[in-house]
Amino acid sequence: MVTSARRRFPLSIRARVTWAIMLTTSLALFAAATAFTVLGFFAHKRVIIQDTEILCQAMAQSLDAALEFGNRSDAERLLRLTFGPQERVTEAWVLDERGEPFASYAREGTPGQTPPSVRLEDASRFHWPTLEVARRVRVGATGKVGGGILVRIQLGEMRDQLLLGAGVTLAFLVVILGGTFLLARAIRGRITQPIQDLQEAVGIVSADKRYSVRVPQREKDELGQLVAAFNEMLIRIQTRDRELESIREHLEDLVDLRTAELLDVNHQLSEAKERSEEASRAKSTFLASISHELRTPLNAIILYSELLRDDAERSGDRQTGEDLGKILSSGEHLLALINDVLDLAKIESGRVHAEAEEMDPGPLAWEAVHVVEPQALRSGNRIEVEIREGCPPVRADRTKLKQALVNLLGNACKFTRDGLVKLSVSSSHDAGKAWVHFQVQDSGIGIPPEQMENIFSEFMRGDAGVSRAFAGTGLGLAISRRLVRLMDGDIRVESEVGRGSTFTIHLPAGTGVGADRPLDSANPGSVRRGDTDET
Ligand code: ADP
Repeated sequence: MVTSARRRFPLSIRARVTWAIMLTTSLALFAAATAFTVLGFFAHKRVIIQDTEILCQAMAQSLDAALEFGNRSDAERLLRLTFGPQERVTEAWVLDERGEPFASYAREGTPGQTPPSVRLEDASRFHWPTLEVARRVRVGATGKVGGGILVRIQLGEMRDQLLLGAGVTLAFLVVILGGTFLLARAIRGRITQPIQDLQEAVGIVSADKRYSVRVPQREKDELGQLVAAFNEMLIRIQTRDRELESIREHLEDLVDLRTAELLDVNHQLSEAKERSEEASRAKSTFLASISHELRTPLNAIILYSELLRDDAERSGDRQTGEDLGKILSSGEHLLALINDVLDLAKIESGRVHAEAEEMDPGPLAWEAVHVVEPQALRSGNRIEVEIREGCPPVRADRTKLKQALVNLLGNACKFTRDGLVKLSVSSSHDAGKAWVHFQVQDSGIGIPPEQMENIFSEFMRGDAGVSRAFAGTGLGLAISRRLVRLMDGDIRVESEVGRGSTFTIHLPAGTGVGADRPLDSANPGSVRRGDTDET
């Protein structure tokens, strides 16, 4: 219940501070007053006992004779004389040597005289509200104990004093508490006001999102530092808000600006594309016309140098024959290069198409082999052809497939000396699809592993030694692979340096490419001389 009540009506910090101060002060005052009273009581008691002992000692000196001679009236007189003036003493006895009452004194108005039941001893006993003090009395020259004195004291006076003291203390307590309350009220503002200010500011910020509010910094203590940090935080939020607002305001301008820039860049790009296409067209036209212009005299040079070489050889002029042979081979090489570059230009401009038709792979393989037979003869190579039985027809562009085959067989003959070049035609099924494979295997120089992928890139040839030793343009494999890929096939290679290479053309069986599909101009290739349409 208490907890829920507290939850419903939580004490404010102001009230808590007041209560804390009041409680602490009350406890301190109460402890001080209690200690003061208790100490006062014991001090008072000790003084009473000391006073009574002095009186007893004084009386004992005169009591000697009365005890020895059994003079009771002397003893009573002495009791009256000694304790009569002592207001707080209500009863007193002289005890004989056996400890029995011998003479007694009682203050007037004291109700009944209770006989003492004490032994002869030096002691004091406290039975609230009375105190009894007993002292032994020595007699004669021997100083033996001949009796004693017992005094009974009423502590009513002391009680009254204590009560008075407590009353005064209580009055002081009330006054001091009142003062403390006023003091607490005066100082609590300095402690709680900054917290209340903070609380109000937080309320405004969270409710209205008003970050311009500030909490007044009254002191430089911890609370003051907290207030300063809070204000600093608000300033930062305000600054950030302003920045965000300004960014938001300029965002549209920025977007417009960027859009305009993008449109401009797009425009420039499309202009550049048009220019590049135009340049490409101009380059193709230039190449077509220049190659035509070059090939006509080049063909004449080749033809006449061949005729002249034959004449020189017939007439036995070996030196002239060799020189004319060099002119002939250089002319042929130049013509091949011109044809390749021209074909490359045609493919780049997208003017090369693959015509799909189904054909028997065997006769096509033989056609390609016949093309390279003279070359094989020159390099001392033997060509073997193996057409596996049951090979399905291949779907491809006849001219381009033959061109790729001739290129692979030509390479095999070129990079093999006095060895074996074997063309195998086979078929397989993969994932429900039939394939025809043309495998060209040689026992030549082989290809280092690091060159395996490069050999299919344009103008990439083997290392310097290979380039020097074997003629070529570095375009054959690149063109062949692109032509085969155009027919939905591919060329793969396996090779081992010094042991030979195996190039395989994989093409779909039965169904191949669609007719009249142009070559992908992003994968430019070329076609071998004499096998493509002349420009
Ligand atoms: P080219 O034959 O005109 O150099 P290719 O594109 O046909 O250009 O071949 C690229 C390179 O691939 C060759 O220069 C050669 O290093 C390597 N290469 C091709 N075929 C073979 C082969 N059968 N044996 C060894 N190396 C070959």
